[in-house]
Amino acid sequence: MTGPLLFRAERIAKRFGGFTALDSVDFEVSAGERVGLIGPNGSGKSTLVGCASGSLRNNEGAIWFEGRRIDRLSPHKRVRAGLVRSFQLPRPFRGLTIAENLRVPLFFAGRAGRDSRAIDEALDFVGLSARRDTMPADLTQVDLRKLDLARATVAEPRLLFVDEAMAGLSQSEVDEILALLMRMNARGVAIVMIEHIMRAVTSFSQRLVVLVAGRKIADGDPTKVLADADVQRAYLGE
Ligand code: ADP
Ligand code: MG
Repeated sequence: MTGPLLFRAERIAKRFGGFTALDSVDFEVSAGERVGLIGPNGSGKSTLVGCASGSLRNNEGAIWFEGRRIDRLSPHKRVRAGLVRSFQLPRPFRGLTIAENLRVPLFFAGRAGRDSRAIDEALDFVGLSARRDTMPADLTQVDLRKLDLARATVAEPRLLFVDEAMAGLSQSEVDEILALLMRMNARGVAIVMIEHIMRAVTSFSQRLVVLVAGRKIADGDPTKVLADADVQRAYLGE
């Protein structure tokens, strides 16, 4: 079930030098919602996630989270507010065990006092308990994705942006990650899934948003969005 408005980006623009990566984009997410964000490579999806999470600063527009303006807050303050992202390429701390890797986001989430229980819960939730003392180099690709989602979990997000967490995985591994994201959502976390694997994104999403060349060209019911002539022309190449 989706609830009241949780996240709102209003007419945000992001430029890199003279290049416009996002051009007056509006993007909203309701509490508990599952949104798919799609578009060709280079259309601005990760840039939007960067502006939302604070690794990038939008040049124009404004971003609100739970009614509070956040677009000038540092990334870790946004994490504390409940806005968390995962990365297109997992970046574990190579010198730390799987369990130790989760201490870092706990610290940034301001929950350092509750270390071990939160870590145990997150490892159990993603199915990595047996690997807690393993080093990241010894994890498979799908387990690295699970570690990344465990890192997100310990921050207790209300909104999670998942940027291409399924690239390079087998079908059954894609299904595992999908099931994990559905369980996170069932706990009340709103999720924005950025994904090229259409089977995954369409089965997951209650709403689809399409970016093309930095502009939002569609936003709505997935079936209608995918049937839209502009979307087919610009995105699906038909
Ligand atoms: P997507 O995630 O949809 O594939 P991105 O948001 O990563 O696209 O990139 C959008 C456009 O912005 C691309 O043309 C990319 O080359 C450009 N871009 C992204 N980040 C930077 C950066 N830090 N500096 C310069 N250009 C960038
Ligand atoms: Mg990207």
